[in-house]
Amino acid sequence: MMRDVKLILLGAPGAGKGTQAEIISKNYAIPAISTGAIIRAAIKNGTEMGKAAREYTDRGALVPDSVVIGIIKERLAEPDCAGGFILDGFPRTVPQAQALDEMGVEITDVISIEVPDESILERMGGRRVCKACGATYHVKYNPSPLGDRCACGEALTIRADDDPEVVKSRLVTYHEQTEPLKEYYSAKGKLKIVIGQEKLEDTTALVSAALDA
Ligand code: AMP
Repeated sequence: MMRDVKLILLGAPGAGKGTQAEIISKNYAIPAISTGAIIRAAIKNGTEMGKAAREYTDRGALVPDSVVIGIIKERLAEPDCAGGFILDGFPRTVPQAQALDEMGVEITDVISIEVPDESILERMGGRRVCKACGATYHVKYNPSPLGDRCACGEALTIRADDDPEVVKSRLVTYHEQTEPLKEYYSAKGKLKIVIGQEKLEDTTALVSAALDA
């Protein structure tokens, strides 16, 4: 019987959180929850929340805490989260982490995937996403079996906020607002550091080892 995993993945944009989240999600049969993906879906569907969020995402800034906390509260209340989940991209600020604590959510593991900024900039340039199913690829590190099409058949696209200038702002935002969470969870004895590897399966092995430790 596998233990319950209620995992937070920390790391800069492009560090590989989303890819690792998908893999752990399959291995543990628990949902991977990406606030970024939920926000992108809202933008695509033209909802009020999406319209308001776009102002922030387009320039690499964070969407206000109250909005993302609301998204997470609703999502974690769904029955598929009862046996565990992976949070990819939430929390991103100390107030978001405090809100999670106040909701009574007992996080079991926090893993920070660490990749230097220079590598992030290189990686983001090669990132491709599927607008239909949400899968992410990298032209060099994690290519789709179908080349410029997703495994689901849809044509792959480049995310608007993967533009190099926007990536630079996202990195500044990460260092200023999200990195302090390492201290927050380290003080609770929950933080594990994984050094992101060039090959995604090498990172996966380190993440699995961190979860088993
Ligand atoms: P991601 O796909 O996780 O890189 O998220 C894409 C964008 O959505 C971010 O650059 C933010 O603008 C917004 N976003 C996602 N998650 C959060 C969060 N927890 N707090 C604030 N903004 C977020």
